[in-house]
Amino acid sequence: MGETCRTCGLPLELCACEDISREETTSIRVFIEKRKWGREVTIIDGLSKDIDLKSLAKHLKKSLATGGTLKEGRIELQGNFMRLVAPILINEGFPESSIELRE
Ligand SMILES: [Zn+2]
Repeated sequence: MGETCRTCGLPLELCACEDISREETTSIRVFIEKRKWGREVTIIDGLSKDIDLKSLAKHLKKSLATGGTLKEGRIELQGNFMRLVAPILINEGFPESSIELRE
């Protein structure tokens, strides 16, 4: 037998908990932080711990062809992707109304 979900007890291939947490996400904040030498980093904050942030970060980095890290539940992407992040998140099942762009 394969792995089962710790929340619903179903085998992982049948579990919808991740999809549900994405749909129920209410407050994702996207903003830019300036680092040393004026370097910009796009921060995605407010994501639920039930979401597989590791694979989401990987997907974002790949889609935007940039580097980034996962730090204390926040995804950091190197560069200013303020306008590109939201469409990717929506495509990944997050509600458009949950995404707040702080410019
Ligand atoms: Zn589950």
